[in-house]
Amino acid sequence: MTYKKNRYKYPVEELTVYAKEALERRGVKLEQIAEIIYSLQKDYVNDLDLETCMYHLEKVLEKREVVHAILTGIAIDEIAEKDLFDDPILSIIKSDEGLYGIDEILPLSIINLYGSIGLTNFGYLDKEKTGIIRELDLRKDNVVNTFLDDIIAALAAASASRLAHSYQKHEDK
Ligand code: MG
Repeated sequence: MTYKKNRYKYPVEELTVYAKEALERRGVKLEQIAEIIYSLQKDYVNDLDLETCMYHLEKVLEKREVVHAILTGIAIDEIAEKDLFDDPILSIIKSDEGLYGIDEILPLSIINLYGSIGLTNFGYLDKEKTGIIRELDLRKDNVVNTFLDDIIAALAAASASRLAHSYQKHEDK
């Protein structure tokens, strides 16, 4: 069985490039996400380095579902920034209301790919707001990062989960 050709307009490699560009445009460097992954996993993996964290992040970014979540979340932030939604949803998104919650639901499509370690790490990062996540949370004045901070937390949590599972496999052998 094979899939029909041209099922997708964009090959996933191209989408990954778009996602990386979107993150950069929003002021997020992949290295900053790798630092969060490191902070989540350093106590569990001997001699962990940022390069390994980056490797797992790059692998997570190769997935179509992950890219979809990144591009969707960033698009909503940018559209809200331009005031192109109507109220009440415009002011709810712009003010990042605590009980809005949809910004935390959307990145679950990233988390769901990598099991329960991803979910617990995501919850942890949502509370702790480590590194660039806190910076995004504090940046205000006509900048909307309502979805972006949760997207970054999900990318870090999913990558940490992927990393943890890869070491588990080595140990199980
Ligand atoms: Mg948020």
